[in-house]
Amino acid sequence: MKHDAGAEKSVPVSVVRTSLSCCTAYLEGMLTSRFTIGSLICHTIEAGLQRLDGGAMFGVVPKPLWERRIPADARNRIPLQMRCVLIEHPDGLVLIDTGAGNKDDAKFKDIYGLENEGHPTRLEDGIREAGHDPADVKWVINTHLHFDHAGGNTTRRPDGSIAPSFPGATYVVQKGERAFATSPNERIRASYLQANYQPVTEAGIQKLVEGDVEILPGIRALVTPGHVPFHQSILIQDRGETACFLGDLVPTSAHLPAPWIMGYDLEPLVTLETKKRVLTRAASEGWLLIFEHDPTVGRGRVALDEKKGWGALLPDS
Ligand SMILES: [Zn+2]
Repeated sequence: MKHDAGAEKSVPVSVVRTSLSCCTAYLEGMLTSRFTIGSLICHTIEAGLQRLDGGAMFGVVPKPLWERRIPADARNRIPLQMRCVLIEHPDGLVLIDTGAGNKDDAKFKDIYGLENEGHPTRLEDGIREAGHDPADVKWVINTHLHFDHAGGNTTRRPDGSIAPSFPGATYVVQKGERAFATSPNERIRASYLQANYQPVTEAGIQKLVEGDVEILPGIRALVTPGHVPFHQSILIQDRGETACFLGDLVPTSAHLPAPWIMGYDLEPLVTLETKKRVLTRAASEGWLLIFEHDPTVGRGRVALDEKKGWGALLPDS
């Protein structure tokens, strides 16, 4: 109950529902929103919606609190974006996370409320909308290998075979996460689907990294455990500016308060520590944060709430 009490107090007035500058950047019907980090041109891509159980998304937080932030449907599900990032890097196009892909059957899509159809998915449509050819993606970085983050790593071709969606790319993930995904237990196996990563491994285009390493100049892995043991967030840095693709560390801006942690997280107390550490840095260094699953707030900056030790979204970031 202590957590509940904390959650009650953890809705600071300054956590506003939207960050106007990022929301208005999405024009009607647009899948992409452009931003820059130093000289790097980046785009968020709205790669589709999923709907997950609201209670599972907010863990110990009572429904009367979380449904004020994101209302639930008749099946108690809340809409969640699958937001990816495309970076125009001097080395080539870099894609962070890939949404759910096109391999799921009707039953799966109904359970998770997936809406991401396109050519073949909304992710590829978004890459084109940003002015690029999906075939030119040179790097694919996954925060982790759950189906809503790595499903678009591979594609089902018209003949039914499954192959990497970006055959010219090198796919990057933490070595520990790749191993974890292949040793699923009953608690985690629903989220790890081998078709999302095994074809990449077999094609010999996977690069496994360990720890907080520089993947490319200005693009760094930041290991952020808790949701899964080897989850990584991705830092984009140039000319003194930093953006952080948080992944499932802070999936929506509603998850900024410390105890607002997903029931899906395997190690919620580890998430708690990771989150405080990362948000403290984000506030003091002025990072632009990218929220992968927020239905409306694509990105924003946080201020540290010194008393409670967590970030509050700035109204105009
Ligand atoms: Zn997720």
